[in-house]
Amino acid sequence: MSKRKRRRTSPKHRKFIRENKHKYEELLDAQDGGCAICGRHPSTTRRLDMDHDHRRMVLRGLLCVRCNRAIAGWMDSTWLAKASEYLRRAEALDHTTSD
Ligand SMILES: [Zn+2]
Repeated sequence: MSKRKRRRTSPKHRKFIRENKHKYEELLDAQDGGCAICGRHPSTTRRLDMDHDHRRMVLRGLLCVRCNRAIAGWMDSTWLAKASEYLRRAEALDHTTSD
């Protein structure tokens, strides 16, 4: 038999989800019912993702699938602040050259 696709959820992650499941509703309330970044609410078929620090396995908050996938494991707030500033400068350039 050929190699099958890897499991989506590792045992380590399943354990993490099991241990933190009870915090979901409380966190959702604290986040006004939506994603911690964009505010999107969970759908009837998909809950928000329990975003966590992969190295320390610490729950950071609830994110929609789009925001959760956009944040790579290696990113930190310092890098994201620089990336944000970079995009802001590029957007400012757009406004000065578009007319
Ligand atoms: Zn989001």
